Amino acid sequence: MDIPGFGQEGQEKLRNTTALVSRTGGLGGPIALQLAAAGIGKLVLAHGGNLQPSDLNRQVLMRHGSLGQPRIESARETLQAFNPHITVETVNANINEENAEELVGSADIVFDAAPRFNERFLLNRQCVRQRKSLIDAAMFSMEGQVVTIVPGLTPCLACLYPEEPPHWNRRFPVLGAVSSLIANIAVVQGICLLTGIGDAHLGKMIYIDTAGMNLRKIAIQRRIDCAVCQSVPSAAP
Ligand SMILES: [Zn+2]
Repeated sequence: MDIPGFGQEGQEKLRNTTALVSRTGGLGGPIALQLAAAGIGKLVLAHGGNLQPSDLNRQVLMRHGSLGQPRIESARETLQAFNPHITVETVNANINEENAEELVGSADIVFDAAPRFNERFLLNRQCVRQRKSLIDAAMFSMEGQVVTIVPGLTPCLACLYPEEPPHWNRRFPVLGAVSSLIANIAVVQGICLLTGIGDAHLGKMIYIDTAGMNLRKIAIQRRIDCAVCQSVPSAAP
């Protein structure tokens, strides 16, 4: 609350916010953890499957003793032990056609940390349709990016990627320190957007190459023929 421009008002805004986090792995785990640290009122977490040994190089909400158990249970237990004053709701499934509309509808803001484009596109479509802000975080090897999407104000994910990039593979190299860094930038963006402190960098992709320690802010444009957000009228900033 000592941060200039944040104060009690900013803290109360966070307390009154429900955030949906898609996936709780290398990116989504640290996102959920820092939202919990910041005092977000409610987390809705969606992540399917059981914990694998290969998850443990990056998935900071998980525990070695929970191998073979549902990932989402480890995520919930860690977060509730860390901050018992927040509400954590969990769904033992990834974002899909059946649950996306309801999950997005339950949230004030959405954090997308899914590695698959079909999940990212589905969340983007629902967020645009329901006019919910979406922070899309992604990484590959030593690089990562964060894009803040406010329907009507900014390009959407489909403006940036009209189609899934060719040869996209679910399995790709991840260093946990890099995924945590990108996750923390995503949380900063979300908190800036929710509370009005700082700059939410609307209409820009924040791109980081940690091998060279380069950070760039790349302007992105709405596509007038975007299949997802074409019909959303442009709002004044
Ligand atoms: Zn679009």
